[in-house]
Amino acid sequence: MKSSKVFGTMISELDNCFARLPDYRRGVNTQYEIKDAAVAAFSMFFTQSPSFLASQRLLQKRKGKNNLRRLFGVEKTPTDTQIKNLLDLLSPSLLYPLFSVAIKMLEEKGVLKNFQSYDAQILISNDGTQTISSQKISCQNCSHRQLVNDKTQYFHSVLLPVIVKAGEPRVLPLPPEFIMPQDGHEKQDCEREATKRWVHRNADALKGWMYTMLGDDLYSNQPLCETFLEAELNFILVCKPDSHVELYKTVDFLAKNGLVEEVEELYWNGRYYEKHTYRFVNEVPLRQESPLLVNWLEIIITCESTGKKEYHNSFVVNRKVTSENVIPFAKDGRTRWKSENETNNTLKNQGYNFEHNFGHGEEHLANFLATLNLLAFLLHTLLDLLDEQYQVLRKELVTRVDFFNDLRALLRYMVFDSWDGLMFFMLRALEIPGYT
Ligand SMILES: [Zn+2]
Repeated sequence: MKSSKVFGTMISELDNCFARLPDYRRGVNTQYEIKDAAVAAFSMFFTQSPSFLASQRLLQKRKGKNNLRRLFGVEKTPTDTQIKNLLDLLSPSLLYPLFSVAIKMLEEKGVLKNFQSYDAQILISNDGTQTISSQKISCQNCSHRQLVNDKTQYFHSVLLPVIVKAGEPRVLPLPPEFIMPQDGHEKQDCEREATKRWVHRNADALKGWMYTMLGDDLYSNQPLCETFLEAELNFILVCKPDSHVELYKTVDFLAKNGLVEEVEELYWNGRYYEKHTYRFVNEVPLRQESPLLVNWLEIIITCESTGKKEYHNSFVVNRKVTSENVIPFAKDGRTRWKSENETNNTLKNQGYNFEHNFGHGEEHLANFLATLNLLAFLLHTLLDLLDEQYQVLRKELVTRVDFFNDLRALLRYMVFDSWDGLMFFMLRALEIPGYT
């Protein structure tokens, strides 16, 4: 049996998070009760089954044993109310060390290096996304906006940085940063401020590899670029003319004087030739007042035969652009858009229901549950990258839906001794050579 122990390691690391719990957060509850509540909630996200706990209570009654205990190590199955009350007290930051554990595992198994892009950079795509919203329910960590009908919309949103690579369908989520009211700040929090906090919180963990931050036009903002540079992070950020008037005035002036360089290539997309035109210039001002000098590049894709424009985007980068690196820089910049679509699609539509309200709470519940959901997504990605049994199984059960349907059904009717035991049972039942 070839197992990488990924599942067991992550579950025991999840347990460890609660050993660090400060006493005042425990109150009358023991560390074990809180841990059981968190792991039980995690198990629902991991199995993508809101009724997982109910089914395990029934199994316990019928068979005197259950999967929540055997696989996830939960001693006493908590009720939904217990879960909500206990987890509302816990800051999601308690779970952030798990993301580093995952990266370390990938590093040790030599898999993280496969995520390196051009010039050994690891690309981090940054994107803010809304999780839950309501006009009726709110908590002290809600953001809000005024609606035209004089009502207030309460919502939660989060910055979701993920490691991406062009051509790699899997993405690696890094710790999130919640966009929420901050102590000592009257103004509402925003994606840019959350990004600065994320950089400060994670700067140490990001040492050892070279990282490039990707982001949309909102990120090509001077204070944010300076934050990246202070933390020794490179950047490739979308930069639109409307929001960067000074920069484009300079680019236009230099272009008129023949100082903007151009590179062209023909690209066969499998059906027809595309013409890719790249333009670039170094050391242009990001804004008018005491500007940071950045380097600018643009990519225009047209159909070679009809001349029809198919794609146009422009970026600012901190590293010097040359005719050698302009093509890979543009390619890396474009990776962001793809990853944003894929990550959001997986999290929101492929079973994780990231926008669904699993419980709002008064303080941390909504954000704590969203982080557990993200960790469930991370664990499936880790298994997909590191666990041979899981890889074989996912290849056999082609769709994500089939895999989760089978997983849920088996865990409802049978009790397994371990995650490996469950994987092996499925492989054997599918009569896969080497597992019979
Ligand atoms: Zn709220």
